[in-house]
Amino acid sequence: GATLGVLGGGQLGRMFVHAAQALGYATAVLDPDPASPAGLVSTHHLRAAYGDGAALERLAQLCAAVTTEFENVPAEALERLARTRPVAPAGASVAVAQDRAAEKAHFVRCGAPVAPHAVIDGDAALAAVDAERLLPGILKTARLGYDGKGQARVGSRAELAAAWERLGRVPCVLEKRLPLAAECSVLVARGRDGAMVHLPVQRNLHRDGILALTEVFEGNVPAAQTQRALQAAQAIARQLDYVGVLCVEFFLLEGGELVVNEMAPRPHNSGHWSQDASDVSQFELQVRCMAGLPLVPPRQLSPAAMLNLLGDLWFDGADADAAPRSPAWDRVLALPGCHLHLYGKAEPKRGRKMGHLNVTGATPEAVRATVRQAAALLGIDAF
Ligand code: ATP
Ligand code: MG
Ligand code: MG
Repeated sequence: GATLGVLGGGQLGRMFVHAAQALGYATAVLDPDPASPAGLVSTHHLRAAYGDGAALERLAQLCAAVTTEFENVPAEALERLARTRPVAPAGASVAVAQDRAAEKAHFVRCGAPVAPHAVIDGDAALAAVDAERLLPGILKTARLGYDGKGQARVGSRAELAAAWERLGRVPCVLEKRLPLAAECSVLVARGRDGAMVHLPVQRNLHRDGILALTEVFEGNVPAAQTQRALQAAQAIARQLDYVGVLCVEFFLLEGGELVVNEMAPRPHNSGHWSQDASDVSQFELQVRCMAGLPLVPPRQLSPAAMLNLLGDLWFDGADADAAPRSPAWDRVLALPGCHLHLYGKAEPKRGRKMGHLNVTGATPEAVRATVRQAAALLGIDAF
């Protein structure tokens, strides 16, 4: 059978590999870490840097098509592979998602509302900031931020200048801090022929800048905002001539306004519920897009939620020096509708994504009740 390749060996790569294998493909993972979660389960594991020319050549030889599981691969690596193999998403699309300034400009071109913002790329831009319009704000590095890393909340010009120094004077985007009523996201999948399908709009709860809980129920995002989110995500994909799975994150403001936050050129943490409560998962969509297989509209099978399992759960709250201990999975798995996904990471660390728990049930209330029970068993603060 054919082999599908992926740049990056994290948990998203691992779940991609599982989906590809279920459809009969062999897989090749490029990741320098010998214990990468995806490398551990892949047919082939090329242990090399993403920019390594020889490794990219080997990947192209092995694979019928290549994708990426993380947006910070060098876009040139994708472009290089694309000379001989189909690559989805394209390097040019990933390059836009790698840079918050380019990403915001793309959203504006698509007519999607974004937070008031300014690019801070030097002292002149810093001095020109319209404090009235942009403060209090959040300063975000244009590149390489995730899980709220590379961000600083700033209330005044002085704090802004200090934060920019602290972030290393790298190009940043300053965004006005908006009054969020809720957050949501949507995953769209676009094929090479331009056909698009999507998963339902998901409601997301973040804690300390990290996704904590996703809920996917009928009616948990109002119908008008659901429509606008879908239309925005589709326009964002179409106008990039995007091929693959794309996640777009939104803010729902207190006044009902919908604002695009950012995008991820790959399956996304907020779409993990689709592994257990959709007849096509986001990872199967990724496989179908890159392999040129047909896209069919996924159907949600039941109300669902996803609870992230961070490394903190491996440590006893009281004793900072205690050795990590695996949580009591047997107790969680005794709850009907709980589906555990662990990423095979050897070393739990606080704030590190170790796995997730998908919860399904007959009704939203039943799902919520199970999430609460599971969270209590695991020592996660109530939602
Ligand atoms: P991810 O891991 O999703 O890629 P990230 O590090 O790129 O995260 P953002 O999505 O930009 O970070 O922001 C993280 C969270 O911080 C958001 O989900 C939201 O809760 C909050 N946040 C970000 N920007 C704003 C804003 N302009 N106003 C209010 N809250 C914000
Ligand atoms: Mg991000
Ligand atoms: Mg985000």
